[in-house]
Amino acid sequence: MYPLLRKGIYYKWRSAISYVYLAFFFSGPFIRIGGQPLLLLNFWERHFVILGQVFWPEDIFLFMLASLVALVCIVLFTIAFGRLFCGWICPQTIFMEMVFRKVEEWIEGDANKRKKRDAGPWTNEKIVKKVAKHLVFIVLSFLIANTFLAYIIGSESLIKIVTEPVTLHLIGFASIWVFTAVFYLVYSQVRELVCTLICPYGRLQSVLIDQHTLVVAYNDVRGEPRGKLERNADPLNVKGDCVDCGLCISVCPTGIDIRKGTQIDCVNCTACIDVCDEVMDKIHKPKSLIGYYSENMIRIKEKPSFTLRMQAYAAVITIMISVLCYFIFSRSDMDMTVMRGVGMLYQEQPGGYISNIYNAEVINKTNKAQVITITSDDPSIQIKYIQAPGTIAKGGMVKAMFFVLIPASHIHTPKTDVHLQLFTGHQLKQTVSTTFVGPIND
Ligand code: SF4
Ligand code: SF4
Repeated sequence: MYPLLRKGIYYKWRSAISYVYLAFFFSGPFIRIGGQPLLLLNFWERHFVILGQVFWPEDIFLFMLASLVALVCIVLFTIAFGRLFCGWICPQTIFMEMVFRKVEEWIEGDANKRKKRDAGPWTNEKIVKKVAKHLVFIVLSFLIANTFLAYIIGSESLIKIVTEPVTLHLIGFASIWVFTAVFYLVYSQVRELVCTLICPYGRLQSVLIDQHTLVVAYNDVRGEPRGKLERNADPLNVKGDCVDCGLCISVCPTGIDIRKGTQIDCVNCTACIDVCDEVMDKIHKPKSLIGYYSENMIRIKEKPSFTLRMQAYAAVITIMISVLCYFIFSRSDMDMTVMRGVGMLYQEQPGGYISNIYNAEVINKTNKAQVITITSDDPSIQIKYIQAPGTIAKGGMVKAMFFVLIPASHIHTPKTDVHLQLFTGHQLKQTVSTTFVGPIND
């Protein structure tokens, strides 16, 4: 494809968003929140950090919940706003249109020059420009690959791979070059085919949008019947506003004609809106012959507004994200489960104590080793370890076995509620309730 580049108002907004996005993408692995990365998706060690919150395999239910929330959000968002995501914030569109396409235009010239040169013989100028473009593409792909890898293994590990001898990090080194090759191929060869053939989201769109969905659309009621501008036009043969200049097709990165209606290949990039507005300006007609429209806005002149339906979807999305955030931010970074020894009743101990045996499992979800102790909130109750929990490695789990001893004089029912507390240093992390079996004291 050789899409023409036009810098209208939408392009300027998309460029501004892409600069923020790119700054965020490249600095993301180095941003720390409370000593934790902003985002880390380490699938090898099953260690994930999102917004400084550490997740371990034990938090799988949160991942399932987050996936469900993401799926519902995507569906609702698409029903209301079509492929708005694709045009404005999809990484593929941002890198393709706002980075690689700009570099291509800068080195090789605009679409018409590129097309002509590509069709012509291999001259020195053509070789130099092609080599320069692909070298810059490789460098950019290398930078993206490094950053991408930093989101998976962490910036510290990436720095080690880059600064230490290759022989110490063969897999990491190979990964960087594999990712570089993939990104280079995507942005230099596959390009818009990612959106039109590979990405499943475009296909999903066709079953989700309806007559209320806002999409980039051609207002055929206003534009048809299309026709070239004529000096001495027949007053009885009134034409629509489309002058059939074909520029909306020339700027389209996927090469479609938006005038044929909404198509799954449209990534809502807004390039056709910008160029058509330019044309409308020149022929002194109102802008937005192509714009963000729903079917009903075009057919029955429904007002463009944040409709009740969109508000309802936005409310559902907000509630779901709030529930997810609640679960994420209210969860404990240590997790203890306690079970009384199976098949055991109680033991009589010297000094007038009755004891029960308990097994505990403690999971450390923090990013550092923790020394833990288990106590009771009742000072008359004693804990005697058979197997002490000691230190738990980061993301690790330990088992403990211990007696809980209660003075016989404090036991008045067959089952007594006991509250066990998990401490790291002096910090209370969790309180777990369990039952204690004992003889009834008359
Ligand atoms: S850019 Fe506008 S006027 Fe030109 S062909 Fe497309 S819709 Fe018609
Ligand atoms: S039809 Fe318009 S919005 Fe859709 S991909 Fe083509 S230029 Fe972009």
